[in-house]
Amino acid sequence: MNSELKKYLIGRIKQEGPLTIAQYMNLSLYHSEFGYYRTVNPIGHNGDFVTSPEISQMFGEIIGVCFMELWQRMGRPPNIHLIELGPGQGTLIQDFLRAISPEFKNAIDLHFVDVSPILKEEQRNRLEHPRITWHDDIEAAFVSCQKSPTLIIANEFFDALPIHQYIMTTYGWAERVIAYTEETNRFSYTTNPLTANDCEKLALPKNLKQGSIFEVCHGARYMTSVMAQHLCRQGGAGLVIDYGHIRSAAGDTLQAVRQHSYHDILVDPGTADLTAHVDFEALQNIARDQGATIYGPTTQGSFLSELGIDIRAGKIKQVASLEQITEIDRALHRLTHPTQMGNLFKVMAITAPQTPAPCGFALCTQSTSSAA
Ligand code: SAH
Repeated sequence: MNSELKKYLIGRIKQEGPLTIAQYMNLSLYHSEFGYYRTVNPIGHNGDFVTSPEISQMFGEIIGVCFMELWQRMGRPPNIHLIELGPGQGTLIQDFLRAISPEFKNAIDLHFVDVSPILKEEQRNRLEHPRITWHDDIEAAFVSCQKSPTLIIANEFFDALPIHQYIMTTYGWAERVIAYTEETNRFSYTTNPLTANDCEKLALPKNLKQGSIFEVCHGARYMTSVMAQHLCRQGGAGLVIDYGHIRSAAGDTLQAVRQHSYHDILVDPGTADLTAHVDFEALQNIARDQGATIYGPTTQGSFLSELGIDIRAGKIKQVASLEQITEIDRALHRLTHPTQMGNLFKVMAITAPQTPAPCGFALCTQSTSSAA
């Protein structure tokens, strides 16, 4: 129980009225003292959720090989910035650095963007690289990544960014908000009407049936836009990997997860991870508007397979014990199989127009590699 955060949220609602979902997420995840990311290490078997790099070393290794191959086709620039957004425990980059050539490794200036003091400490303890800089936000990272091309990786980062939810009522679109009832000591959903002007600005879809929910993540849209601008200016590529949908669609995807199980979003805020599906179509359009080239989104299963995860698994298995072989097969299945993370998770690349195409998207029917 995070009673301080609950008290704070109740105080805010009493003062200002119901909170938008984005405000509720923002405070639950990032409140400077009591927010989820400020107070716990959420990742791993002892935490609340497990991510792809924590499932297998193969994940970070494959991303490393993907970027190394791209760097080679970019003409092996002697200096390159590598930014990871939300590096968690630093596992992906550890595996990445192990898989690449010394020449590529020497070229890399590493930049981590993270809000969590606990995870930053974990990253500091685990990672050895002569040039690592930590940044509190993406803008600070981009300011210090001048002069050389930039590679960016964001795995399960965009899903943490606060979303707004809009709901179709008999009177048209309204914003879904969170109220508090003193008698029951509970939070509950209610709605705030939207003006015609709001609806127009938000470009909410038309002709949806009553009760439909449409989600908008302003933070993800903003970050994608600055990321695309930076890449177009400096050259380079960004890989966004997350669970989400290829086409924008209605649906309530907000979820809370605590100790590897679903949790009620409105109960004990600040004690569970809150995430929502990433709307890849919206992000793709924003990046393209900035002049960037988009590859994908493709599925995680297709991306990893195309980059040779089966071959990598086979290689590791040659020197593994029977027990380890079972574990490697299980991890491979979990990362790539359509019923596991293979289809739910998507991979999208954003590149500068002059940067070559990253590998992993050739089999993808969605590839729209020109700004047309
Ligand atoms: N990429 C890692 C961790 C994913 S969890 C992995 O795959 O294992 C989300 C990560 O993003 C955490 O490190 C968290 O501290 C960070 N994070 C979440 N929201 C953030 C924000 N708004 N700004 C910066 N970092 C954020």
